[in-house]
Amino acid sequence: MDRVKRILGQFENAAHHPGQMVREWKQETGRKVVGCLPVHSSGAEELIHAAGMLPVGLWGGQTTISRASEYLQAFCCSIMKAVMEFSLTGVYKDLDAYVSPNTCDTMRCIPLLLKETNPEVPVIGLVLPDNRKINVGVDYLAEEFKSIGESLSEISGQKITPDALQNSIAVFNQHKGLMNHFLTLANEHLDIITPYYRHMVIKSSFFMTKEKHSEWLSQLIDALEKTPSYPWSGKKVVVTGIMMEPDSILNMLADYNLAVVGDDLAQGSRQFRTPLPDGDDPYVRLAQRFADFEGCATVHDPVKLRGTIIKDLVTDNQADGVLVMMMKFCDPEEYDYPYIKMDLEDSNIPLLHVEIEQQMDSVEQVRTRLQAFAEMLRDK
Ligand code: SF4
Repeated sequence: MDRVKRILGQFENAAHHPGQMVREWKQETGRKVVGCLPVHSSGAEELIHAAGMLPVGLWGGQTTISRASEYLQAFCCSIMKAVMEFSLTGVYKDLDAYVSPNTCDTMRCIPLLLKETNPEVPVIGLVLPDNRKINVGVDYLAEEFKSIGESLSEISGQKITPDALQNSIAVFNQHKGLMNHFLTLANEHLDIITPYYRHMVIKSSFFMTKEKHSEWLSQLIDALEKTPSYPWSGKKVVVTGIMMEPDSILNMLADYNLAVVGDDLAQGSRQFRTPLPDGDDPYVRLAQRFADFEGCATVHDPVKLRGTIIKDLVTDNQADGVLVMMMKFCDPEEYDYPYIKMDLEDSNIPLLHVEIEQQMDSVEQVRTRLQAFAEMLRDK
């Protein structure tokens, strides 16, 4: 138990100190760091790794929004407001470049705003195809990744070879496998892997090398496997949405004896659940992963598979209900919600819709609703 706690403390420290993690890596290696905007930087991250640089996930954070209001309207999501605030106030000063996918309407303007406000730092736009499953969509994205790879090679001074990229894909695939293994094992230890620590393990992966994170994950998995399973007597939930922050909400779940046993979060399992397929052309492998990826509000999905994916998570993990963590002002998520609600209600799965922001003045309303939901599950 002590070993598990010590390893969890490492993940927690990394998740809370991204700037320090980045600076230490730069000092140790003398190499460059590229900030990757959400949600779809997968593919670019492997390219950054193959060019000898460190990809770092930029998912906003808790801050006071002041200067970002000059560039983004009040109705933009809190993640992008925080990203702009951090860019304008020097928090991102250690980044040597950005990769910015066109994930949603809000993010389409972010490359221009970053260039305007930080002209000395290169911004590489990643234009993802809407028709991602047809051959021309895959071919187009493979070419897009080649072009991004050339820009990254110029920034790092290290050419991306096919062998180097295949090696990077193997490193990332191994990491995805370990993350999935950990998330499955976590359900046998819901007393230690609380919603907060589950999130810490996931979040820290955005701020360090995948090799180092995999090493820590292997240690954690080994320690958990040597720890007796815990018979959880509270209720179990699956969470869906973009992310589950601030931390106070995660701690509230523990207060009401709710454990997270599965997630469909853009910042969570969606980053790990789709492995890259095998193949000789590494650029096609990167593009094919995006074609294979399912269940996200920000990708074209005419058959709306997300409700089914969440239902399967509930069934597979014997969950009692679903928490929909709705990021305020996230249009894609809001458009998806009626379909999810309908699918879950058709299957009699209890769900709670909670509106969140990274900069929340008060979480007490959320507390009241979570408490009522927990009581309802308990009385069922
Ligand atoms: S939270 Fe929604 S609106 Fe904001 S960047 Fe992500 S997908 Fe776009």
